[in-house]
Amino acid sequence: MKYSIISRGDDFSKQIEDYLHQRLNDISMKNDQEDPDLVITVGGDGTMLKAVHQYLNKISKVVFVGVHTGKLGFYTDFIHDDLDSFVDKIEKNTYNDVSFPLLTAYVCNKTHCIQYYALNEMTLINPFHTQHIDVFINDEYFESFQGTGLCISTPSGSSAYNKSLGGALLHPDIKAFQMTEIGSINNRVYRTISSPMIFPKEHFLTLKAKDFNEVTLTIDHMHRNLHSFEYIKLMLSDKFVRFRQYDDNDFWSRVHKSFL
Ligand code: NAP
Ligand code: MN
Repeated sequence: MKYSIISRGDDFSKQIEDYLHQRLNDISMKNDQEDPDLVITVGGDGTMLKAVHQYLNKISKVVFVGVHTGKLGFYTDFIHDDLDSFVDKIEKNTYNDVSFPLLTAYVCNKTHCIQYYALNEMTLINPFHTQHIDVFINDEYFESFQGTGLCISTPSGSSAYNKSLGGALLHPDIKAFQMTEIGSINNRVYRTISSPMIFPKEHFLTLKAKDFNEVTLTIDHMHRNLHSFEYIKLMLSDKFVRFRQYDDNDFWSRVHKSFL
């Protein structure tokens, strides 16, 4: 089997990376950063997000597993002092894969669209001025949002930014996506729904911003400043990210371990 290691890049993660290369070589795994079957991340969720984006064009062929070296590690199953048992499990090769859907967005102007994918979420956000966003659900007008922004998240991303915004935790077996508000204004003049909303897979959202000079689209850990776009169309994509689970690690036990 071919593997690659994507590391956070700090000294500690590099030490772990070196050790893993030795041990994986011992069990005849081939290091292939370009075309791996198994992508091993060493770091935290930030490193997992980077790895997923790095292999986006091969996403149906690769499978991810994470070793975490600090902080939270919601997507990572192994801790750094557990490396020998990690390598043993790779060698034994008994596992259960889980698949988490990716969100997609088409950012369009009059002539063309650019497509993006996210594992956690995308936000349309303006921290400097009140942002006006018209929201359409399946091409039907729904509301005119005024405030800081909107967060559209995947099931596996529901425990990330979405959770800080008061969104629900959504089990990844539910093929759906969620919209939560970021600092909405509600008064006699402006009105939004205020509740987090969960949409089934076939639905799509269209966001139109009145003034897009300062509005930013965040895509997981990345961001793009949008200048002249007409609308953004968001939905669950047909792409999934596959995670290799060598131990039983249900979503709810992940939530329990991370937050309680
Ligand atoms: P970061 O510091 O790497 O991420 C913020 C925290 O979120 C970290 O503790 C990270 O875990 C954790 N995290 C990431 N994905 C998660 C998930 N699916 N479930 C539970 N926790 C998760 O910051 P970054 O490099 O900009 O990463 C981008 C992510 O940060 C975004 O996708 C967004 O979800 C999150 N974020 C959160 C807020 C907020 O809550 N107010 C604001 C902006 C962005 P690790 O420590 O293991 O990396
Ligand atoms: Mn991080």
